[in-house]
Amino acid sequence: MAAQSQEQSLREELTCAICCELFKDPVMLECMHHFCKACIQGYWGRCPRVASCPQCRREFPSRTFRTHYLVSGVVEKVRKCSSEDHKRKMQKCLEDALRAHQKEMETFVRTKHAVEKDICSLTKASGELNSKIRTEFIRLHQILEEEERAVLSELAKEEEQLFFRLRGDIMRLEEGISELGKNIEHIQEILNKKGDSLMLEVENLAFRPPAHVETQPTLDIERHRDRYSGPLQYIFWRHMLQSIHPAPAPLTFDPESAHPNLIFSKDLTAVTESDRRQPVCSSPKRFQQCVNVLGSKTFDSGSHYWEVWVGSKTKWDLGVAAESVDRAAKIRLCPENGYWALRLRNGVEYWATATPWVRLAPRSCLRKVGVFLDCNEGKVAFYDAEDMAHLFTFHQAAARQFCPFFSTCFSDGKLNMEPMRICHLTL
Ligand SMILES: [Zn+2]
Ligand SMILES: [Zn+2]
Repeated sequence: MAAQSQEQSLREELTCAICCELFKDPVMLECMHHFCKACIQGYWGRCPRVASCPQCRREFPSRTFRTHYLVSGVVEKVRKCSSEDHKRKMQKCLEDALRAHQKEMETFVRTKHAVEKDICSLTKASGELNSKIRTEFIRLHQILEEEERAVLSELAKEEEQLFFRLRGDIMRLEEGISELGKNIEHIQEILNKKGDSLMLEVENLAFRPPAHVETQPTLDIERHRDRYSGPLQYIFWRHMLQSIHPAPAPLTFDPESAHPNLIFSKDLTAVTESDRRQPVCSSPKRFQQCVNVLGSKTFDSGSHYWEVWVGSKTKWDLGVAAESVDRAAKIRLCPENGYWALRLRNGVEYWATATPWVRLAPRSCLRKVGVFLDCNEGKVAFYDAEDMAHLFTFHQAAARQFCPFFSTCFSDGKLNMEPMRICHLTL
């Protein structure tokens, strides 16, 4: 309202007192009053006597005035601003700005909600992870306590056996001592009656032969001590490993699934690609196009972990494949085709074969890769098995049967000839 009345008063200031319209070509008389050029000229033309200002009546015999450009500019602006076209434009401009702001506000509110949701999710996930980690540590503590109990109970049992043996020895020795004592007494009695004894024949001397007591071999206390000394923490830790789940699975390669150019070590834990085809039996399980091979076990439930040595190979693929993958065709590695894999190309480029592929940047070159498969949660995760740094996780992996999957890729002469190995738990 204030703006409107200000505009009104400005319009009045800029209105010609003769035509009562906004000035047209405004001019200023010496008395400082303004009129339209045409109006004042017309007015003076009709003046019978000396020309004067219609407002203050001051007389101007010379009929002079000055064109006032500043006022002219302001009038033009006011005229333009009050035109319908301008008002429409102004209206549209304001409406557009309003809409833009409203839209921006909606976006902000939506984003704020999303961030709030993220905060909730983060809180929830942190809580879940916290409790999961605690559970795992509780289990580790349990395993450790079980190990402690088992070792202590074994020690106690061994001690008991040794004590039993030694106490038996003492008992038998005491019996022997008492028997010998009796004999000694008897012999001394005979000796004391020397005179009479002469009457006796030696054969008739009525004492028993010295008692014979069987004792066990001397206790080897050092041996007993040695059994429970040494690198005890390491010994117990190795025992513990048998209880850890999942521990690295002792897999081997399944040669029946292998491409004919693959060559295996005798124990089926190392594989390399040869430029010559090997004489192999044909099998529907065999990969025909790519130099792939599967693991000796398939998994349909539970969680499993295995480690693969890739050393300084320049190319490889490894991970998990659905048992149902097409082995006769050359197909792209991706979850849609039943592959959840990691791959190395050109010696330094690590990729997760998601759709689209995801470039990975491990802290150092991968020499040993850990693969974790959780059949129940449909999860396939990869780790740098040397420091257990997490590399990548596939979610929603689904298959009736999952197989460990390996590809040596071509040997490229000698460049990539280093065998790929399945690691067995050796500490
Ligand atoms: Zn006028
Ligand atoms: Zn005047």
